[in-house]
Amino acid sequence: MSKRGGKMRCTWFNETFDQRREAVRELEDDLRSAISNDEFAIAYQPLVDAKEGRIVAVEALLRWNRTTGSPLGPNIFIPVAEQSGIINPIGLWVLRRAMCDAMRWGEITLSVNISAAQLRNPEFPIKLGEILEETGFPAEQLELEVTETCLVLDPVVAERSLNVIRSFGVRISLDDFGTGYASIGFLRQFRFEKLKLDRTLVVQAGEDDGSRAMMLSSIAVARALGMDVTAEGVETDEQADLVRTAGCDQIQGWLFYKAMPAEEIDKLIAAQDAQAKLLGESNRGEQ
Ligand code: C2E
Ligand code: MG
Ligand code: MG
Ligand code: MG
Repeated sequence: MSKRGGKMRCTWFNETFDQRREAVRELEDDLRSAISNDEFAIAYQPLVDAKEGRIVAVEALLRWNRTTGSPLGPNIFIPVAEQSGIINPIGLWVLRRAMCDAMRWGEITLSVNISAAQLRNPEFPIKLGEILEETGFPAEQLELEVTETCLVLDPVVAERSLNVIRSFGVRISLDDFGTGYASIGFLRQFRFEKLKLDRTLVVQAGEDDGSRAMMLSSIAVARALGMDVTAEGVETDEQADLVRTAGCDQIQGWLFYKAMPAEEIDKLIAAQDAQAKLLGESNRGEQ
């Protein structure tokens, strides 16, 4: 009886394992054809200046409009794309499309997320250079968001690639800080241009003194190293006040804007430019 039970459990385990592997394989196949089927889109989330609330940057966030199956967020499909290497062509597609869109947005900075597999690919800096040239997007307005996992797996290769990318004028941002193991020493080693505090750290800083101390000391070190600081995932006025007082330069979160299609960004930028023009005219009138 117990032997049979054991065997059944074993079969059951193997079936779900196989099923899971099959599901991942299907997902990989779907991802492989998603570019040619035109199933990807980019949503852009504005980052605002912490003091004035002006839009200063947008982050490109990949969306997959699958023709079959339920909709999946990037937290689900990006890891599958990373494991299978499909992230390489997908990542280049995102860069090209986002740079084409952002050409219309004037001085605004464009942030694009980069996976570990992309950074480890020696072809990546070359391809990036080609896309910058093709699109004519100013390298100084492009920011690549990397996470610590991008760097700890192969720090030597990563650093070499980052240096080539920086030589184009592109800025590097450390994403999701406060979620993993990235230490303050890490910030010094890689010399990022920007630090992005993860939503979980922002939320916790509003709830307990220890997390708040950690957030404040990270910001202090980042500033001392000449880095800009962005707070991610700000949803409440209290959180906005907290990160503003703590010295964050930029805020990104649903309190201000959610991610939206490029056409919506067009409208926001146009409205912002019109307002700036109006303000400029009234200031001149007063003088
Ligand atoms: P991320 O780079 O940290 O992007 C921020 C995520 O937080 C986005 O989720 C955004 O929609 C969400 N978010 C922003 N503000 C708020 C807020 O106030 N509250 C809450 N609860 N969430 C907020 P999204 O779009 O689902 O993307 C998830 C992750 O997928 C990204 O995290 C990034 O790591 C990855 N990702 C997205 N697009 C790409 C891409 O093109 N390439 C790569 N390699 N990764 C990508
Ligand atoms: Mg990001
Ligand atoms: Mg992030
Ligand atoms: Mg995050």
